[in-house]
Amino acid sequence: MSTYTREQVRNLVDGKLDWDTTLRMLSMPKDAERFKQYLAALQDKLGWTDRIVLPLGPHLHIVQQAKTSRWVTQCDCGHVFCDWNQNWKLHANIYVREDEAAMSEVYPKLMAPDTKWQVYREYYCPQCGTMHDVEAPTPWYPVIHDFEPDIDAFYKDWVKLPLPERAN
Ligand SMILES: [Zn+2]
Repeated sequence: MSTYTREQVRNLVDGKLDWDTTLRMLSMPKDAERFKQYLAALQDKLGWTDRIVLPLGPHLHIVQQAKTSRWVTQCDCGHVFCDWNQNWKLHANIYVREDEAAMSEVYPKLMAPDTKWQVYREYYCPQCGTMHDVEAPTPWYPVIHDFEPDIDAFYKDWVKLPLPERAN
């Protein structure tokens, strides 16, 4: 039994939910049904025949391609970054804020970090320009691979859903 209506979850995905309801949804324990509703709402919104397996961010998803059954990391606009288990950031357009001028677009004067110690790396979709992530590492630090989700365990033990078979 789900705590929320399909309509409420759709509004959550669209960012149209009032703050009180959003806060209540965020602070309550999540039920497995909600993941199903969330996927259904995303799927409706994007209108893809590719099946969403796991959302990685507001506009970035692991999907199973309808044609090939391969799992890939894909943007809302349909751009495919790479196979799902690779680091999509290595296939993104990257903008590095590594000097005072670039940092001053983000911070007020004298409030920015010293770029000898910290830079910003912004990762964009090469096709539509959506920013999918920002890192704030030290300049020499390699591109961070956020996480490799254990999707098999997530589907089997947490949301208890059948997992779409993958070709890769
Ligand atoms: Zn895109």
